[in-house]
Amino acid sequence: MNIRGNIHKVVNIRDLTESTYVLRMEKKGLKFVAGQNLNIGIAGDTERRDYSIYSAENDDYLEILVKEVKDGLVSKRLRKLKAGEELDVDGPFGFFTIKEESRQAGKFLFIASGSGIAPFHSFARSYQKLDFKLIHGIRHSNEAYEREHYPEGQYVSCVTGDNNGDFKGRVTEYLRLNPPDNNTLCYLCGNVNMIYDAFDILKEKGLPSENLFAEVYF
Ligand SMILES: Cc1cc2nc3c(=O)[nH]c(=O)nc-3n(C[C@H](O)[C@H](O)[C@H](O)COP(=O)(O)OP(=O)(O)OC[C@H]3O[C@@H](n4cnc5c(N)ncnc54)[C@H](O)[C@@H]3O)c2cc1C
Repeated sequence: MNIRGNIHKVVNIRDLTESTYVLRMEKKGLKFVAGQNLNIGIAGDTERRDYSIYSAENDDYLEILVKEVKDGLVSKRLRKLKAGEELDVDGPFGFFTIKEESRQAGKFLFIASGSGIAPFHSFARSYQKLDFKLIHGIRHSNEAYEREHYPEGQYVSCVTGDNNGDFKGRVTEYLRLNPPDNNTLCYLCGNVNMIYDAFDILKEKGLPSENLFAEVYF
C-alpha cells in the first residue's frame, strides 16, 4: 500500500559515522510534539519506514537520524539522496511524548540503544530546562552521536566494544549499578531486547510501571 503523504525536499545530509547520518528536510509548517515519528518514503517509491524526529519542535527544519542497516532497503536509499530531492512524509504519529506538567517538575532517565537516541535529542533540544540524564548503549565510542548537543554531564555513553566510553559495558549493567530513584520517569527507545532487559531491571529496583515508557524500533 502506498500511503500518500506530503512532499518535503531534502536540505542536506550530514554523516555522523560510516553508517549513521542525519537527514535534514524542509519543515513546511509540520507541527509535532518531541518524541513523535514520521512515516517516510522517497517520493514515487512504495517502500516507507518510520523515523523518530531528531530536531526540536521549534527548529525551522525537520531532521531524522538514520542508522544504515546492513541489507536494509530504505535506510540505504535515503543516504544517497541529494539536496532538492523529494521525500513523501506522513505524520506525525506516536505517543512517546512528555506531558506538559511533567516537563516542569519531573526527573527523567532516557535509555537508548544506537539510533534510539533520536527522540531524546528532540526532547533535550525542545525542552531546554528538562531535568534528565541520558544513557546511550553503543558498540564503539565514535557512535556517541553529537554528544556535544547535550548539557555537560547529562550524557553517558555505555560502550561495549572499546574503552573510550563513559562506562564500559551495556546500558543494562550501568542501570544495575546506578539505579534511578523510584520517582524517576524512565523513557526507553531502540532495540526490543534492550528494552525488555532494562524494563526488568527497573521493575526489580522498584520503579512503578506507570513511570516506564518505551518506543521499540526493531
Ligand atoms: C516508531 C519507530 C521509529 C523509528 N525511528 C528510527 C530512527 O529514528 N532511526 C533509525 O535509524 N531507525 C528508526 N526506526 C527503524 C526504521 O523504521 C527502519 O526499520 C530501519 O531504518 C531499517 O529500514 P530498512 O528499510 O533499511 O531495512 P529493512 O529492509 O526494513 O530491514 C532489514 C532488517 O533490519 C532490522 N533493523 C531495523 N532497524 C535496525 C537497526 N537500527 N539496527 C539493526 N537492525 C535493524 C529490521 O528488523 C530488519 O530485520 C524506527 C522504527 C519505528 C517502529
